[in-house]
Amino acid sequence: MKSKLTLENATKRKEFLPYGRQWIDEDDIKTVIDVLKGDYLTTGPYVQKFEQAIAQYTGAKYAVAFSNGTAALHGACFAAGIEAGDEVITTPLTFAASSNCVLYQGGTPVFADVDPNTYNIDPVEVASLITPKTKAIIPVDFTGQPADYEKLNELAKKHNLVIIEDAAHALGATYKGMKTGSFSDMTMFSFHPVKHITSGEGGVITTNSEEYYRKLEMFRSHGITRNPALLGNNEGPWHYEMQFLGYNYRMTDIQAALGESQLKKLDHFIDVRKKYALMYTNSFKELDEIITPFQHGDGESSWHLYTIRLNKNVFRTNRKMVFEALIDENIGVNVHYIPVYQHPYYKELGYPDGLCPVAEEIYESIITLPLFPAMSENDVNDVIAAVKKVIIELREKTV
Ligand SMILES: *Cc1c(COP(=O)(O)O)cnc(C)c1O
Repeated sequence: MKSKLTLENATKRKEFLPYGRQWIDEDDIKTVIDVLKGDYLTTGPYVQKFEQAIAQYTGAKYAVAFSNGTAALHGACFAAGIEAGDEVITTPLTFAASSNCVLYQGGTPVFADVDPNTYNIDPVEVASLITPKTKAIIPVDFTGQPADYEKLNELAKKHNLVIIEDAAHALGATYKGMKTGSFSDMTMFSFHPVKHITSGEGGVITTNSEEYYRKLEMFRSHGITRNPALLGNNEGPWHYEMQFLGYNYRMTDIQAALGESQLKKLDHFIDVRKKYALMYTNSFKELDEIITPFQHGDGESSWHLYTIRLNKNVFRTNRKMVFEALIDENIGVNVHYIPVYQHPYYKELGYPDGLCPVAEEIYESIITLPLFPAMSENDVNDVIAAVKKVIIELREKTV
């Protein structure tokens, strides 16, 4: 097998290829310009239109838009009633926002180790960490592949826990035939430019619970309501009440219009991502040094990220050398993620090294390759050629 590989056509790419990038077309631009010419720059008709479109797409009853995904997670922790003394179990292999939202509410993040194949939170580890103080679980659908919700829901039911799904990577993914956003107590999606669709900055919580919906809507705007049915006192048509301490986490109409326009293209974006992911997986089969992303088969990933893992059994070169060699080939690789508790802020809070050994070992050996719908098949082939070239060169140097 290995003898088939040659370095002949592995010439260096001329321009740097980023790991992710938005796709904005003329329709998106026109929609945003229309908003700029209209009456509402914020909290106008597009916010509601976008929320309804997200609810319809995911199959959730309600959707509440926020200024960004992190604010949306904060809202979800508030709605779930997280407060000082409460513990919330999440994964260390994620962006810091997944656990920062717990800290914002005064709660304590508890990190459960991940499954060595899917890199998603391991329900067995979660079970071992549940205490009387545990209030919620925040699983992350890593790279777009949904976590093990069958087992997580079982635990949640048994211990009366809220599931806040961090699906920042997983808009459009499915789990056992259901779309992400339709089955957890609350699900967060992010519209940062590297995610599936963008609104510049933006986020949303989907839920089927009217109670969460009401809390989320008020939380993003100072805890204020104008809904006559919710007012304690109604002195007249001008009356509104601030009923709890919320924030200004509102999404603008400019953001919502862009998001709504982008959503129309989401299925196409995901199709292209799937096609490119398959090209990678098929090409890397012949390299024993690379472990391609494991797919559990209980659903379909929406392929936010394509993460390869270096197989340390056959390849002793460290990740840093491979990473630097790929950057040198103009391939914008990345690493997702440094285990959250290994950041200085978390270390100071008292989280020790070695807390989640599986996540730490995965972190040491993973590399994220470029994957976004605006890249071309030629770009994908450039990445494949560069990876093969780098692996073969380093293989010969070290073994
Ligand atoms: C992007 C992301 C977030 C936060 O979203 P923002 O919109 O950037 O605030 C949270 N969790 C994960 C896993 C993410 O990738």
